[in-house]
Amino acid sequence: MASVNSAIPSFIILIMFLVGFFSVPRIPILTNKIYIRLLLANLFTAALNILASDGNKYYKLLSVGLVYTLNILFFFSLIIRTYLFFAYSASLVNLNRYNAGLFAWVFRLPFIISSLLIFSSFKTDAVFRVTESGFEKGHFMYILYVCLFFYIAVSYLAIFIHKSNFESTREFWGAIVFNLFLIAGSVFVLIFPTSLLIDTFCLMAVMVIFLCFENPEFHTEKRTGLFNGNALTEYIQEMRYKKRFLLVAFAIKNYQDIRDIYGTLPMDTGIRLISDYLRAEFPFATSFYFKEGRFVLATTETPDAEPICEKLKSRFNHPWNAKGVDLYLSICFAKLDPDTEIRSADLTINALISALHRASSAEDGTCTSVVEKDIADYIKEISVKKILELTVEENLVEVFLQPIVETTNLRIVGAEALARIRDREGHFISPEDFIPIAEKNGCITILGEQILDKTCQFIKANALDSIGLSWINVNLSPIQFFVADIANSYDEIIRRNGLDYNIIHLEITEEAMVSQSLLMKQMESMTEKGFKFVLDDYGKGYSNLSRLHKCPFINIKIDMELVWAYCNHPNLLLPSMISGFKSMGFTVTAEGIENREMADAMIALGCDYLQGYYFSKPLPMKDFTKAFAIFA
Ligand code: C2E
Ligand code: MG
Ligand code: MG
Repeated sequence: MASVNSAIPSFIILIMFLVGFFSVPRIPILTNKIYIRLLLANLFTAALNILASDGNKYYKLLSVGLVYTLNILFFFSLIIRTYLFFAYSASLVNLNRYNAGLFAWVFRLPFIISSLLIFSSFKTDAVFRVTESGFEKGHFMYILYVCLFFYIAVSYLAIFIHKSNFESTREFWGAIVFNLFLIAGSVFVLIFPTSLLIDTFCLMAVMVIFLCFENPEFHTEKRTGLFNGNALTEYIQEMRYKKRFLLVAFAIKNYQDIRDIYGTLPMDTGIRLISDYLRAEFPFATSFYFKEGRFVLATTETPDAEPICEKLKSRFNHPWNAKGVDLYLSICFAKLDPDTEIRSADLTINALISALHRASSAEDGTCTSVVEKDIADYIKEISVKKILELTVEENLVEVFLQPIVETTNLRIVGAEALARIRDREGHFISPEDFIPIAEKNGCITILGEQILDKTCQFIKANALDSIGLSWINVNLSPIQFFVADIANSYDEIIRRNGLDYNIIHLEITEEAMVSQSLLMKQMESMTEKGFKFVLDDYGKGYSNLSRLHKCPFINIKIDMELVWAYCNHPNLLLPSMISGFKSMGFTVTAEGIENREMADAMIALGCDYLQGYYFSKPLPMKDFTKAFAIFA
């Protein structure tokens, strides 16, 4: 009875885990299926351990057949549990893809041999026997220990060989630690075969599994109760080896703006309503919420996305009533057909997001398929990221200069510094490709400083007025304003090079992500140091005149798209814009001047400066000095 009492807390904990498992939704993946079997196996093994050891103790009161049965069942459940722990480790590193053919049989063999020996003990006494003096070990008892240690050893092998398949160090260490508890338990059972402590160690292993892998919080999105991005990654990672599946993603168009309009609370309620709707209307699919108004439905039941999209479309034709606020939301769709080759979960999810991005600008509301280009784009992004990191680390960024001319005499008066990086073969990668990535991963801060420093060194080494330059514009990404002491670090670079602040003008574009207050604060502290600012690409994206009016710019650069639009079809917009800027006291530069006619048109509109291929493409610094020395 004492053994029962000491096991009660273990039973309670296991039952709590079981109830917990069924009280929240779980993704239909192997790891979860093994986990539930593991809980049951622990429960049964612990119960059978008590029954078998009590049976062995009071064997005189029981029939021999019953004592045999109890021990056979206990030993069998023991190796089932061991096998399940191994299967769990294997599924964590996606070893289940080997779950067929020869591999599968190699892994199952110790389990099968041990089971046969256990069951045959009735007749052969191989693992144990029950005699007049009670329970005794058989000649092949050691096979059980071999089986235990074999599965733990293979688990460790799988964990180390496929270490990269773990999503985080928490998961890696979780797998190491729960297997350590199994080793401890197995050593105990080796030394004290009649002790029940092995069950306590296995319970500890289950607890580690819960804490590191099975806690529902890892896979659910708090607000919606739907599965999150981690869960989607795990779902794809596993399904790609098992079944064909369809992914249908949809996103609320202009999510951030819509959120600003309706407010955070109603939008959160709206997202919850949509989640409830998905669960109720698409029970055959697993629903995921993938941040910023993006949902994904995954199903193995149908290869056809059309009916799902149609149903969603007709629902979104009506508003979502979020606590009295009617939310009118429009959505766009993207899908990953079951036949698409899946190289990795990460790649698939990113390709799906980029297809959604394309779909958001399509008017007709059709479901955009993930195409090779989405995948290729993401692969390119990863490779650009690597090159960028290397370039920054080794300070290899190159700076090209493009002249800016005065409209009064078409003489060069300034230049714009433009960053260039090269891939391993020496080919240039466009700033359009690497600047957004540098902004996303934070590299832009150091990159920006390196570009400024190289421009300053160029100015120091060349008497600027000998090539007719009064200033050089250096681009500064507004994302750099998130670094609090940018004013000091930029100031330090100018001083280190012994330059005058007037010689560097900083070009910034409007960026929706940076708040007006941060923009003003950083611009003010840099202006105090003596820096001058130019507004770049006016007319592209988020240009906002009232915001601009408050900022201390000295010059506005009109985006080349606006210039080209005007030169193709003269309109009233650009002339009034330019005269407006001039009356506000700004000088104006027209970008993208590619021929004489465009230059004349912009001069006629009153622009002060011109920049474009007509005068020169951006040139490496050496070529720039050679090309423009004659203009001085
Ligand atoms: P941006 O600052 O507006 O630079 C002007 C871009 O227009 C340059 O492209 C330039 O080569 C191109 N361009 C100039 N004249 C013409 C023309 O007549 N026709 C055409 N089709 N294009 C012309 P680039 O060098 O590829 O740079 C693209 C953008 O990347 C830049 O636009 C800027 O936003 C960003 N960028 C470049 N260098 C840096 C940098 O050092 N820091 C930051 N933060 N951004 C940079
Ligand atoms: Mg610029
Ligand atoms: Mg520009």
